[in-house]
Amino acid sequence: MEKRKAPKAVLFDMDGVLIHSMPMHVQAWNKIYTKYDIETTEEYLYSEEGRVATKAIAKLFKEQKGIILSDEETRKIYHEKVEEIKKNHPLPPIMDGMLEFVQLVKESGCAVSVVTGSGHPTLMNILNRYYPDCFDERLMVSAKDVQHGKPHPEPYLMGLEKHGIKAEEAIVVENAPLGTTAGKAAGIFVLGLNSGKLSDKMLYNNGADIVVKTAAELSKWWKENIETKKV
Ligand code: CA
Repeated sequence: MEKRKAPKAVLFDMDGVLIHSMPMHVQAWNKIYTKYDIETTEEYLYSEEGRVATKAIAKLFKEQKGIILSDEETRKIYHEKVEEIKKNHPLPPIMDGMLEFVQLVKESGCAVSVVTGSGHPTLMNILNRYYPDCFDERLMVSAKDVQHGKPHPEPYLMGLEKHGIKAEEAIVVENAPLGTTAGKAAGIFVLGLNSGKLSDKMLYNNGADIVVKTAAELSKWWKENIETKKV
């Protein structure tokens, strides 16, 4: 099979891709929503991953209780979730095998950066701890940089802009349907890393070009499918 030309940059989602943080987020959301008598399932919480948190809260209150929350109210509930994470889940683990994949991408001469819906203030600390010298904060896109979160293409379009490259010169790595949708809507080739509890089909149906289960499989795919510079 013909190999793909190496991209100029690989744009990584963070939660569920670089960091194995989804189980902790799902647990925290479940606890907070239960307190407000909002029903969710694990599958629902995984399928909603990547939506701006305050919007996700507003959506559930409207759907289940017919209540329109003010911005202040959604922010208050989101703050409770952040506090729950701080208290009970201080540091999520790195995604197994992902440092090797990031290094492989860099060794292929490609730039890397992070495009996340998270607005966590200590993002760079976590990234630098697990991926020392890999990610440049100036190239990162986080919740505070965009008007529209995923599944809107804006975060990935901004990622392209920060690198000064076109969609066809990038590859996106995403684990959640809203993220794969955002990457595809930005016109970028999307590698789906199905690290959570959803079906592969759900990622394919939402724009992923390839779906694998582990970072080791991403490395294998890269070696088999990406044309790297001859030395
Ligand atoms: Ca994610």
